[in-house]
Amino acid sequence: MSQTSEIPSNVHSRNEDSFSRSSVNANSPRSHSRGISAAPARSEIPAVSVRNASKSFPRSDLPPVEAIVDVSIDIDLGEFVVIVGPSGCGKSTLLNIIAGLAEPDIGSVSLQGDDNAERIGRVAYMHQIDLLLPWRNVLSNATLGLEIAGIPRADADAKATELAQRFGIAEFLNAYPATLSGGMRQRVALLRAVLPDRNVLLLDEPFKALDAITRAELQRWLSDVLDRTNRATVMVTHDVEEALMLGDRVLVMSPRPGRILLELDVDLPRPRPRDVVREPNFVELKWQLLSALSGESVR
Ligand code: ADP
Ligand code: MG
Repeated sequence: MSQTSEIPSNVHSRNEDSFSRSSVNANSPRSHSRGISAAPARSEIPAVSVRNASKSFPRSDLPPVEAIVDVSIDIDLGEFVVIVGPSGCGKSTLLNIIAGLAEPDIGSVSLQGDDNAERIGRVAYMHQIDLLLPWRNVLSNATLGLEIAGIPRADADAKATELAQRFGIAEFLNAYPATLSGGMRQRVALLRAVLPDRNVLLLDEPFKALDAITRAELQRWLSDVLDRTNRATVMVTHDVEEALMLGDRVLVMSPRPGRILLELDVDLPRPRPRDVVREPNFVELKWQLLSALSGESVR
């Protein structure tokens, strides 16, 4: 397929009208399916809606840093959206805004249609750095979110212990973070993020700095875990193959100030085996993402 003469139907340029894709597809069923459940219809009230958000940061003697400009995204329950973009383009800023740790200067964020909702506490967030507390063992790191939510200790421990099996860390519940490998720490941080059972899960480069084998294993495992839940998930990554292995939809951001340049539906069936990377559809999608990231228009 030519990159220049034809716009593939799964590509939605965000250059002219940032709402064009969501409004066109507002009532049409999405093609993705997670696990054995039927594909959810695109709901009228998304789990997360970011509307025309811009954010800049003041600097003492210099003009402010514009981090993101006019970003709009809708994410439904059951949907896995991946954000890719160059370093410093505002990806973490966008997640912080969705999480309620920062507010946009312009624009709004709503959860389940509620603009005024307190977002902290309703959104699970795995930060770019794992933020495990060194003085707590794996179990009590994992249960931190439940503890903050006021869940009784015994109940929190039971829930974490049960899930730890699926996360492959059951044998390490008494270990301290300093004794764990990078991959294990990531699993603990991820377990801590998913345990409180929130509708919205934000993952900021969750597999960064892992070796290729651990990374592939954890991607498969995350995909399995999320297939069994009905959350709105947003993941940031630098890795376009990872984006296509996991995402129902991939958004490409421009260099700073970050805008959404491109929105790509990933119509690849699940589960996606490792060798999906060799399929022509995958290769084509990867090419579209790489072209957008390198600043070439797909139009
Ligand atoms: P990314 O996650 O895409 O690498 P960030 O969202 O972390 O990018 O940062 C976007 C830009 O905003 C960067 O130039 C960064 O230095 C700046 N920035 C982010 N957070 C702050 C902050 N709290 N104060 C000042 N500048 C910030
Ligand atoms: Mg970041």
